[in-house]
Formats: sequence, C-alpha cells, structure tokens
Amino acid sequence: MVSRIEQRCIDKGMKMTDQRRVIARVLSESDDHPDVEEVYRRATAIDAHISIATVYRTVRLFEEAAILERHDFGDGRARYEESPSEHHDHLIDVQSGKVIEFTSPEIEALQREIARRYGFRLVGHRLELYGVPLGADKESEA
Ligand SMILES: [Zn+2]
Repeated sequence: MVSRIEQRCIDKGMKMTDQRRVIARVLSESDDHPDVEEVYRRATAIDAHISIATVYRTVRLFEEAAILERHDFGDGRARYEESPSEHHDHLIDVQSGKVIEFTSPEIEALQREIARRYGFRLVGHRLELYGVPLGADKESEA
C-alpha cells in the first residue's frame, strides 16, 4: 500500500527507500503536528533500524519538496504536518501543548486588506494563536 505522502514523493520523482517509505507512512497517518523525535518514535515502532539522523534528513527532504509544512509553536521544536490542500491556522493551548486547527474567512480577508493597504498582493501568511482554556486561570488560583 502506497501512503499519501509516498505518492506525492513518487509524483515529484523522488527516490523512495524502504526507510523513507516508512517515514512517509508515519507522517501520512499522523493527524497531529509531531516533532522529529515523535516521528522517530513512531517510525522505529515499524522499523527499529531507522536512525534519528535518517528521520531528520528525510523530514528535511520532504519539507524542501513542499510535501511537509514546518511549524514553530513557540516551544523551540520544529513540528511537521503534511502540506494541507486547504489552508488553515493554528491555536495552541500553552498549558497542554494541544494544537487546534481553524480557518477564519474574516482573518483571511483582513490580511489581504492589510497587505493591499501597503501596496501588496498577499501570497501567504503564518498565524499562530496562543491561549489557555477559559476558566483555567481561576482553577489554578483556587
Ligand atoms: Zn495544522
């Protein structure tokens, strides 16, 4: 079975080794935003011979091919997800590290408007919101 990311690699003419194929599969099956250590943990559960260096190299390769997107959610660790077909932004719970994906037509429109105001056509943006769950502050005081 060919995973989604493996197929994207094949479409781009990339050479797929067995280990790359495993890493591609792990990333295809991830619906969160794992860092390299987490990808490594999941990949070695399938093939114990995969090294962390191979995971680093492969993830970098996929990123350069625009198959993966890299994110920085404020904790200094690069996180990855398969480049989505539909754009979304991220809301990060700073207490648990949980990441919520959202889209906002209002924010998209506002960003285009701001760029236009400065004489630009918007071609991309990054947006991360950081928050704590409502009520969490009160609980920690009690
Ligand atoms: Zn995401």
